[in-house]
Amino acid sequence: MKFKNKKNLMEKTIYISFFILFNLLLSACSVTRVENLTIMTPSPQAKPIETSSESKEPTPIQTNTTIPPTNIPTEVNIPLPNYQLSVRYNYSDQTALIDEIINYTNPSNKGLPDIKLAVEPLRYTDSFQINNVKINQSEFTKFELGKNLINLPLENTLLPGEAIQLEISYSLKMPSIANPQPDQKPGIFGYTVLQTNFVDWYPFIPPLTEDGSWQIHDGWFFGEYLVYDLSNFSVKINLENTPQNSIIAASAVPSSINQNEYIYEHKAARNFVWSYSPSFIVKTDNVNGIEVSSYYFSFHQKAGEQALIETTKAISLYEDLFGPYPHKNLAIVEADFLDGMEYDGLYFLSKGFYNLYDGTPQGYLTMIAVHETAHQWWYTKVANDQALEPWLDEALCTYSEYIFYETQYPEFADWWWEYRVNYYQPSGKIDLPIYDYPGFIPYRDATYLQGAKFLHQLRSQMGNEQFFTFLKTYAAMYDGKISSTVLFWKLVERITSEDQTALMDEYFQGSY
Ligand SMILES: [Zn+2]
Repeated sequence: MKFKNKKNLMEKTIYISFFILFNLLLSACSVTRVENLTIMTPSPQAKPIETSSESKEPTPIQTNTTIPPTNIPTEVNIPLPNYQLSVRYNYSDQTALIDEIINYTNPSNKGLPDIKLAVEPLRYTDSFQINNVKINQSEFTKFELGKNLINLPLENTLLPGEAIQLEISYSLKMPSIANPQPDQKPGIFGYTVLQTNFVDWYPFIPPLTEDGSWQIHDGWFFGEYLVYDLSNFSVKINLENTPQNSIIAASAVPSSINQNEYIYEHKAARNFVWSYSPSFIVKTDNVNGIEVSSYYFSFHQKAGEQALIETTKAISLYEDLFGPYPHKNLAIVEADFLDGMEYDGLYFLSKGFYNLYDGTPQGYLTMIAVHETAHQWWYTKVANDQALEPWLDEALCTYSEYIFYETQYPEFADWWWEYRVNYYQPSGKIDLPIYDYPGFIPYRDATYLQGAKFLHQLRSQMGNEQFFTFLKTYAAMYDGKISSTVLFWKLVERITSEDQTALMDEYFQGSY
């Protein structure tokens, strides 16, 4: 359909934006039925909604169960991959020149004939250009570019335990973040008038599977598909042609700022992301020794402060229940796109949630803030293959929302089930790869919503004590590693003697 004039085009854009915010399943966090917010908001005195799937009274959570000994493989002393990134970001033309040095040691017991690096900017037309590649300080021209990767066929196989140094000089032309479309995942990488987001902005070496292949997956229309090893990051950012009072929100706090040069160290992390804005206001708080900063636009002060309050509460709760938060800082970044999205040490929260904030915790601002906070345990601390087993982090984060309401706002626990889950009457097996769901709604219904129901039933079968012991043990056992559905079930079976076959059959396609 063609539109006659700009006004119609703008109306179309606004309509599409709201359509997506209200109805589209968003890859990190489902954002649905926001339009009924005021209708669904009962007063505290309102009669609780009857539901069959949750207890009415929050039960004190205790985790004293003794766990049988486990057979965790002996750690091999391989240094983490090390990334040094030096960036010159020019705000006026939205370009960046980047020198990247990666020091990598083959962690597997197989020789590597090639190294594949995941390169997300290659998925954007004319955004990524390589200027120079060196391997062990020698020029290397035989690199091969794929749709979303660089392949480096090595002259000599990289032996187990052998180290290699890669140097990649490249330039980025930051894409304009496109207007949202109903059939596409919202753009995050790129710029708008309000912010420029450097997410998955550098080539990185993905983990290796047990059979020695690289865990790189094709991009998809919804969901996430990248897999991250734990790595160390040293990042230097130079800002050029930026307005005064510009602010950078990043995965780490800067170790030094000198005029327009910002230096960061982010150790034992899944990734390093940053968002630049000439418009951010920042408010900071501390919880359990962790510095939490909320970056928001000036027209959303109340909501920006509320995101900070709820996030600090969530960190405190999740540290109690799941174990220590993995870093010393967390950035909450108001996003100029229609999504929430988790990264290591930083999460984005759509400005749409800030717009809809009504002064109560009964809404997406709080719900998605605590969801994204939970990803710091279920994604950052314990990672998973997001393409092949997306339920593993999303179900846990969605259920963590419930645990948050159950303990912090018990009067809204029933509301959460009705509003977030039951309304959609979710169905579907939860353990499919993102590629096997026929669309974003079946994907959301299964991995997020059925996933939360599955965990609630697992909890009721195990009992509170065993269930929360399971979560804490799971977080500790796979801290810094990549978990899997098989490992999840193995630990369930070690902690409980109850037969879980019926539950597995109900929610899972595979048997584990
Ligand atoms: Zn999520």
